[in-house]
Amino acid sequence: MVAVGTELLLGQVVDTNSAWIGESLALAGIDVFFQVKVGDNHRRIVEAVRVALGRSDAVICCGGLGPTQDDITREAIAEVMGVRLVRDEDLALRVHERFSARGRHMAANNLRQADVPVGATPIPQVQGTAPGLICPFGSQVIYAMPGVPHEMREMLARAVLPDLAARAGEPSTIASRTLRTWGLAESTVAEALGPRLEALEGGGKPTIAFLASGVEGIKVRITVKACPADAPALLDAEEAEVRSVLGDAVFGVDDETMEMAVGRLLVQAAKTLGVAESLTGGLIGSRITAVPGASEWFRGSIVSYASEVKRDLLGVADGPVVSRSAAIEMAVGAQRVLGSDVAVAVTGVAGPTEQDGQPVGTVWVGVASGRPAAAEAATLRVAGGREQVRQIAAISALDMLRRRLLAG
Ligand code: ATP
Ligand code: MG
Repeated sequence: MVAVGTELLLGQVVDTNSAWIGESLALAGIDVFFQVKVGDNHRRIVEAVRVALGRSDAVICCGGLGPTQDDITREAIAEVMGVRLVRDEDLALRVHERFSARGRHMAANNLRQADVPVGATPIPQVQGTAPGLICPFGSQVIYAMPGVPHEMREMLARAVLPDLAARAGEPSTIASRTLRTWGLAESTVAEALGPRLEALEGGGKPTIAFLASGVEGIKVRITVKACPADAPALLDAEEAEVRSVLGDAVFGVDDETMEMAVGRLLVQAAKTLGVAESLTGGLIGSRITAVPGASEWFRGSIVSYASEVKRDLLGVADGPVVSRSAAIEMAVGAQRVLGSDVAVAVTGVAGPTEQDGQPVGTVWVGVASGRPAAAEAATLRVAGGREQVRQIAAISALDMLRRRLLAG
C-alpha cells in the first residue's frame, strides 16, 4: 500500500486512506505486509512501488492521479511497468463531456487523466474526475486510486476489492473477537495463556494478542482467518479455550463495558441497583447511566462526599470513613435509601495527601444485597494520581459487584 502525497509527509493531511484500506483488506482476508507514504516525487514514487512489489503480490497506490503537474502516480507506475503512457480516447471523451456538461472551460491539463500505461485497464470514476488503474505486472498487479477519501472508498469497494478477490481465489475473511478482563496484570494474563499460545503456534490457527488499555483492563484479542461461514464457530471455540483459562476475570466481549456486564447480570437476576460513592464523586452513576436501558435496573447513586452526609443520610457511624465498616454501612445505607435489591459503595483516598493515616490509593468497596442486608467489603490499593485512583476505584467497585452477582 503506497500513499502518495507530500501533504501526508508534512502532517497537513492525516493518511486515513491507508487505515481504511488496511481494514478493508483485513475484512476481505487479504494480508497487508507493507504500508508506506511517499511525496509527489517521480523517482521516490517509483522506488516505493518497487519496494512494495518486492514484498507482496499486489500493490495499491492512492493519490496523485489528478490533473495537476504534481499528480505523477500514473507516470511513475508506467516507469515501473517499463511501458509508455497512451491516451485512452474513451476516457478523454468522458473528461470532455464532464466539463461541457457543467458548461466549464477545460484546461488541456485535464486530459492527462485519460493517459493510461500500455497494458493497464482504467477504472472509470463515477464521482470525481480522476479514473483509477488496474496495471498487471507479470504475475503481480498494481492498482492506482484517487487520494480523495470518498472517491477512493467508492472505487476500492466497486473495483479493486473484487479484482483482488478474483485474483486471490478462495474467499476468506479475517475476523476478531476481544475478551475484556479485569483484575489481572498483563503479565499474569500472558503467563496463564502461555500454554495455549504455544498450542496455537504454526500457521492456519487462531492467533491471540494482548492489549493493555489502562483503566479499562487487559483485552485479549482472538483473530481467525477463514472463509466467512466458518469464522464465527472458530472464534466461539477459541473464546471457550481462553475463558476456561481466565474464568471470571473475563467480564465482557468486544464493546461490552463493565457497567453493561453488570446491567446484563442484574436484568438476568431481575434485581435493581443502588450506589453510594465518595471518592468517585458520581463516576459510577455516570458510567451506568451511559448504558442504554439502565433505567430498568438502576435506582440511583448518592454522592456522599462529606463525612456528615455519609452519617446523616446513609447511617455511617462516626469514625474513619475509609474503612471496612464505613464501606459496608454506606452500601447498606444506599440499599435502604434507594430501595434497591443490591447496592455497591466505594470510599477511599484519591490523594494527593493521605487521610486518617491511610495512604493515597487506599480504596474500600462494600456490596450489600438481600433483606435483611448481607454485606461484605474488600479493599484494594490503587497506584497512580488522583484521576487514575478515581477511575480504577469506579471500575473495581463495579467488578466486585459483578463477581458478587455471578456468585448468585
Ligand atoms: P484528484 O482527482 O482529486 O486530484 P488525486 O488522486 O490527485 O485526486 P491527491 O491530489 O493526491 O489525489 O489528493 C487529493 C486530496 O485527497 C488531498 O488534498 C487530501 O486532502 C486527500 N488525500 C490524499 N491522500 C490521502 C490519504 N492517504 N489519506 C487521506 N486523505 C488523503
Ligand atoms: Mg490531486
